[in-house]
Amino acid sequence: MAHVKVFDTTLRDGEQSAGVNLNRLEKLEIAKQLERLGVDIMEAGFPASSQGDFEAVKEIAETVRGCSVTGLARAHKKDIDIAWEALKGGAEPRLHIFLATSPIHMTHKLKKSPEEVVEAAVEAVSYAREKFPYVQWSAEDACRSDYDFLVHIIEKVIDAGATVINLPDTVGYTTPDEYGKLFDYVKQHVPNINKATLSAHCHDDLGMAVSNSLAAIEHGATQIEGTINGIGERAGNAALEEIAVALQIRQDRYDFQTNMVLKEIKRTSDLVSRLTGMMVPGNKAVVGRNAFAHESGIHQDGVLKETTTYEIITPAMVGIDSNRMVIGKHSGRHAFKQKAETFGFELTETKLKEAFESFKNLTAKKKEVTDDDLFAILTDTQTANEDQPKYELKAFQVQYGSINKPTATILLTTPDGVEVERANTGEGSVEAIYNTLDDLIDEDVHLQDYQLSSIGRGRDALAEVHVQLTVNDRQASGRGSAQDVLEASAQAFLNAVNRTLYNFNKPPIQKAQV
Ligand SMILES: [Zn+2]
Repeated sequence: MAHVKVFDTTLRDGEQSAGVNLNRLEKLEIAKQLERLGVDIMEAGFPASSQGDFEAVKEIAETVRGCSVTGLARAHKKDIDIAWEALKGGAEPRLHIFLATSPIHMTHKLKKSPEEVVEAAVEAVSYAREKFPYVQWSAEDACRSDYDFLVHIIEKVIDAGATVINLPDTVGYTTPDEYGKLFDYVKQHVPNINKATLSAHCHDDLGMAVSNSLAAIEHGATQIEGTINGIGERAGNAALEEIAVALQIRQDRYDFQTNMVLKEIKRTSDLVSRLTGMMVPGNKAVVGRNAFAHESGIHQDGVLKETTTYEIITPAMVGIDSNRMVIGKHSGRHAFKQKAETFGFELTETKLKEAFESFKNLTAKKKEVTDDDLFAILTDTQTANEDQPKYELKAFQVQYGSINKPTATILLTTPDGVEVERANTGEGSVEAIYNTLDDLIDEDVHLQDYQLSSIGRGRDALAEVHVQLTVNDRQASGRGSAQDVLEASAQAFLNAVNRTLYNFNKPPIQKAQV
């Protein structure tokens, strides 16, 4: 079977999803999990876009050893120099340069003639090759480019030293048949194409990203790009877990394999969904909550008699484990630590102590602490930035009745360590809390979006809230989980505000759209 490399861009293209902004520790936790998932290449960010992104990419490159870490750069020397500083400590430093090749992008965005674009691409790639052993070049908006111009520029950038040529469907416009033909055309007409790896990068605007990626593989792509849960710009990218499972299940049709460890899919999906706040719909292929739930009577009967009647993917294949190790009220620290390790968390002694305390507190309130609860506790502890001063919720009380206006009283500590208290009202309990927090916080805060969900099922499930705010006109997202909905709401709001205090925001410069 032929091997297809997996290029994950959850931390770059995925992080560009509207409303997503991950902090350094969250990115690092996702990177470590992507390494366990067995991706060949991970794109950790866009180092020149902000100091925060630079630091995150650098830390990931220096931490991850099992795969190649790459970063995005425009075709500018300055971007390439900054990316080298971030990536040089990696196990296999790799750069991803992009430049648009479609008439619409060259004319309106770049304001360059086609020959000027060729020149800029060649110059950037040869400059990058002086530093990086691997350089990927992307023809942004390849699918709407003139095929003969593509052939011409690809030949030139391969001569300049590009080791990977990526043909992205930047705007999610192509169809499987058309995309396959593009790969055929490039393979047939670019004389030095065998010196480079051909890569596919698809967006899901017409719901065809996964189908287009599979078509590309059948027509000569040996690298496939995408994200976990298909998150990304606009309608998102191709979902890597869907491609990997499709190749596995339909081996009779596709003679290709990846290095992805399918059993790590569920955990990776859960982690990305929690940290980004991009919820996975219940009916999502491969990782949706209902993907394995056979609820209709006829189906259930069939599945009980013989699982393959309706179930083409087994839950175990993607890491949904039915024989979970149970951990209860009386479990000690050792058992707790083991459990954390099975989830893939490597905790320091301090973090282990904190997580264990949260677990013990929860067992006092909740009859059954589930794997989902533990996973939430561990992610929260592992990604909490303890060193930086922040707003912290000390105590709060809400009065709600169907006749009186809801009132919230809140006690906070500010980043300077001062305790402040205030009360205010709102039309509902959450609004009362948010109005009060707004009074207590110096920053100018506006709520843009609020989402409430439960962690796991059952009457005593933990509540999880994701919010999007603008804080002093900058976008910020936050999350909070607690046994009570109101406490989770307050925590999510403060989490978003705290992120903006330390430049965790998205870069203000124009976003890269590969
Ligand atoms: Zn993209």
